[in-house]
Amino acid sequence: MTDVCVLGSFMKDLVASAERRPLPGETLHGTGFAEFLGGKGVNQAIAAARMGARTAIVGTIGADRYGEEFLELLASNGVDTSWVVRHPSLGTGVGLPLVLPDGGNSIIIVSRANAAITTLDVEAAADVLTASKVLSVQLELPVEASHAALRLASTAGGTTILTPAPVGPVDPALAGLAGYVDILVPNEVEAAALTGLNCDDESQVPMIARKLAEDWDLRGCVVTLGARGAYVLDRAGSFEERIAPYAVDTVDTVGAGDAFCGSLAASLADGADLVDAVRLANAAGALSTTVNGAADSAPVRAAAIALLE
Ligand code: ADP
Repeated sequence: MTDVCVLGSFMKDLVASAERRPLPGETLHGTGFAEFLGGKGVNQAIAAARMGARTAIVGTIGADRYGEEFLELLASNGVDTSWVVRHPSLGTGVGLPLVLPDGGNSIIIVSRANAAITTLDVEAAADVLTASKVLSVQLELPVEASHAALRLASTAGGTTILTPAPVGPVDPALAGLAGYVDILVPNEVEAAALTGLNCDDESQVPMIARKLAEDWDLRGCVVTLGARGAYVLDRAGSFEERIAPYAVDTVDTVGAGDAFCGSLAASLADGADLVDAVRLANAAGALSTTVNGAADSAPVRAAAIALLE
């Protein structure tokens, strides 16, 4: 029995640090460089496993060195990789984050093998998708693959979570996911993009979450607010709450949203109600910012619970 199944991406992150973003046409000397294993799928799977969930991942990597690194990292965190497909010719996906002194970041991703996942690959993983208590999906894979996985899990009665990231100009295909998603977890930028509403002012967040919940026919909507915590709307319990942030020594915010979502998935699989799951996820997200990197920055359950208490 699997608690959490994650359908998602594998991205080898090659991270540059710099004092500021380069201007158009400018070549800027960076101040540091590091390699990390990431991708929203991997980050969320490792976060869920570290929070105590029996976790599996479904996705596509290349038959290359980066792919090997992923299989080793996932296995060492206890994540089941039986359903990971190795593409014969495309390389493993790469991410190119730029981290600024204040911990803020901008990221370019090149999907490579991630983009080659097909609905047939997803259907080949039907056993784990339908047997898991919670499925967590993001938007770094082709939307048809996410759609197939959400439909399988939702029809089988599992709880489904969508992190709508990255989101650019809204793809009409996203509308097809509505009805198969129980909990939507956008950050403020994604919430604004999905609704076309301005999310600069935090007072708008409850109204935006309510609109998303109605448009997507959700059970709950959680808007992550970075250093300002999170907002949760639980329609089942007719409950909404602004969850205050933890004051931590932030060094790198890459992967905070994924640590948050992986933790949320693990708690929901464990039977927690949405608000309690968000409280613990808020602690997991905060702790992940105190460590450099993406997948490897997710905290273990004991550390998140210690912060909560
Ligand atoms: P994303 O990485 O998807 O943009 P956010 O930046 O909103 O997501 O971060 C996700 C969650 O991680 C937040 O809701 C919060 O709980 C936690 N978090 C992020 N940054 C900080 C921070 N600087 N201090 C405390 N908690 C943070």
